[in-house]
Amino acid sequence: MDTNGSSTAPESPAPADLILQQRKEALQGLPQPSGDGGGILSQLSSNPFFTAGFGLAGLGAAATFAQRGLKHGAALIRRRMLVDVEINIKDDSYTWFLHWMTIYQQSQLNGARAAAKNGSEKVGLVETLLRKFTPGMRQLSIQTQKVEHSNGAIHTKFTLIPGTGRHILRYKNAFVLVNRVRESSSRDLQSGRPWETVTLTTLYAHRHIFEDMFAEAHEVAARSHEGKTRIYNSWGAEWQQFGHPRRKRPLESVVLDDGIKERIVEDVKDFLDSGRWYYDRGIPYRRGYLLHGPPGSGKSSFIQALAGELDYDIAILNLSERGLTDDRLNHLLTIIPNRTLVLLEDVDAAFSNRRVQTEEDGYRGANVTFSGLLNALDGVASAEERIIFLTTNHVERLDEALVRPGRVDMTVRLGEATRYQVAALWDRFYGEFDPNGAYKERFLDRLSGLGLIEDGNGQKADHSRTVSTAALQGLFLYNKGDMERVIKSADLLAQPIYN
Ligand code: ADP
Repeated sequence: MDTNGSSTAPESPAPADLILQQRKEALQGLPQPSGDGGGILSQLSSNPFFTAGFGLAGLGAAATFAQRGLKHGAALIRRRMLVDVEINIKDDSYTWFLHWMTIYQQSQLNGARAAAKNGSEKVGLVETLLRKFTPGMRQLSIQTQKVEHSNGAIHTKFTLIPGTGRHILRYKNAFVLVNRVRESSSRDLQSGRPWETVTLTTLYAHRHIFEDMFAEAHEVAARSHEGKTRIYNSWGAEWQQFGHPRRKRPLESVVLDDGIKERIVEDVKDFLDSGRWYYDRGIPYRRGYLLHGPPGSGKSSFIQALAGELDYDIAILNLSERGLTDDRLNHLLTIIPNRTLVLLEDVDAAFSNRRVQTEEDGYRGANVTFSGLLNALDGVASAEERIIFLTTNHVERLDEALVRPGRVDMTVRLGEATRYQVAALWDRFYGEFDPNGAYKERFLDRLSGLGLIEDGNGQKADHSRTVSTAALQGLFLYNKGDMERVIKSADLLAQPIYN
């Protein structure tokens, strides 16, 4: 026996070697490295699971990249190549733009239909694509309009206007994307309407078309108001158009006493021609008129006719209106629309409020106070001229502080009908049927006999009796074509109910 431990029998491997051995064997089962350092990569690449995962991840990253790129690209294109114009619902142009767009699209459609009939309609590729990918194009909403005919009759008309969503407009070889958006969560605080915006987008190179487009839309709006007077009423803290514009009332249709109308019209026109004079002297460019007299003497009618004559609109505010405070009055007078006469009715209401009125229902009457009215009148200053008419049936209740230049520059009484007015009103109604005025003379004599107007010598038999122009007009209207019957029923005018 070899005692030095050398033996021919194979030695059993040490535990560490055994581990190495096992690793080697395990590695032999795997693909062998190529020896150039890329061994692992080639192993990975030949693993089908790994390559599929890697491929997917790569694709995902590429897609994200592409998406981002597109987004950036789109934003860049947008910034560089597109131009937006936003109009919100509070802007005047909002309504007239949508109205114009409806008319414009309708005319385009009619043109296209006619062309299609002739077989000559050519729809370009861009247009076809845009039509296909703008979903809101066929969305319309309805707008109800009241149309006044020349005989004064009103009928209701429905028109379709572009609804919310996207629309494509082709205007002078440019494409415009019109996006009408209604916010469901926010409202215009003053009018309570949902907040809306219309955004117009076109190529930067075509930006000049907006100017033409708005000019056209404005012209259409102006044309629809031509020969009409818009009436504004207060709505909360703003002026809102009341109903549809009314046909202008001719100045000749209002019959005032000899020379009165001419005096006021001349004064207003003179004021409108003297802007320079006011600016040079630093005086606020405004003028106030006080018209007083009994109800039905034509105060409101005259102001309406004057607005028509000057091509102005009218903003009407009744000072006895409940809830009208000094602050609201003041604010409203600072935001009067351009080319608009202001009519403050029942100004005496402000004077009775020097004492706080409490009505039966415990509600305090009108809240405008005397000093509030004076402040509001003094505060009216703007680059535009301002013409304010105050009316009252009770001039005796007014304070003389009101009748001061700058507040009220001209005071005119429109009173009960005079002989002159009755004659003029008769001519307006019956002139053509009574060419030599024989019926008119009989009617005038009848009224002076009743003590309602002066006789031919300017003498009035009964000073306590009067007749208003409104009552006269009522009688003429009632007996339209029958002059004999008008004369016969003249004594009705003497009844207290008419005056
Ligand atoms: P006021 O404002 O003075 O109370 P209105 O102008 O409201 O009077 O007139 C009431 C009605 O009577 C209107 O229909 C108007 O046409 C008619 N009227 C009153 N006065 C006149 C007048 N001087 N000339 C023509 N119509 C008149």
